[in-house]
Amino acid sequence: MSGILFIISAPSGSGKSTLVNQLRSLVSGLEFSVSWTTRGPRGSEVDSREYHFTTREHFEEMIRNGEFLEHAQVFGNYYGTAKSTLHEAFAGGRDLLLDIDVQGAAQVRAKCPDAVSIFLMPPSPEVLATRLRNRSRAEGVLREEVIDRRLAKAKQEIENYREYGYILVNDILDRAVEEMTAIVAAERILRNGNAGANGADRERVLRLAQSCRQASSEARVRPVLQAFGVPVPAATR
Ligand code: ADP
Ligand code: 5GP
Repeated sequence: MSGILFIISAPSGSGKSTLVNQLRSLVSGLEFSVSWTTRGPRGSEVDSREYHFTTREHFEEMIRNGEFLEHAQVFGNYYGTAKSTLHEAFAGGRDLLLDIDVQGAAQVRAKCPDAVSIFLMPPSPEVLATRLRNRSRAEGVLREEVIDRRLAKAKQEIENYREYGYILVNDILDRAVEEMTAIVAAERILRNGNAGANGADRERVLRLAQSCRQASSEARVRPVLQAFGVPVPAATR
């Protein structure tokens, strides 16, 4: 049986890496895809741990050879998921989590309609700006024009939230971690049966995951859309 493909997308600085890192210690049988990129390592990043860092020439050769499940240009650099990553995870009986942007997510959904997609939102532009500044300061590279560019891109990305099956708002980190963990557990229960959960736990994760489905998320999403100046769909006004 093939594994479950999870996709998570979020504007840069929303807390996706923080959330995914916590998930690593909480969820077993879930592999975290290491993407290829032409951007240079940041902070304490290590080659082949956070990314496979490579040159534009090599990346373009991989595109020509059809090695990518999806690829996209983000902030002037190439990023892509190798098909081999997916094949290896599924061959080993593991599910796979892709941390990719909205362009890559659209490509994967077109090729793998069963993929479970999750969009993580920051609570507001103010909170996002603070997180971006804090992270840049910690890395010793604070540039206001970079922060402004990422905020403008965040708005564009949030406009795509309706393409995703589940929506999380990363306000309180522990809550977002609990919700993300519940989504993984619920999808395993729905697709593979019980997946080891006892009755009460099963009901709890199914209920929590259900509350994160896009169709159930209107009340939580509306203030975020308003804060970013993204038009609020008529049904959620
Ligand atoms: P991303 O991977 O989405 O670009 P990061 O995980 O690097 O974002 O998080 C950006 C910054 O925000 C980091 O400094 C991180 O510690 C902080 N952060 C993440 N989630 C939260 C949260 N829920 N509350 C407060 N700070 C957070
Ligand atoms: P960062 O440079 O901050 O690590 O990532 C920038 C953006 O690139 C994030 O939105 C991240 O999700 C996205 N990204 C990372 N890996 C991939 C990938 O393999 N494919 C695509 N399409 N986007 C990716």
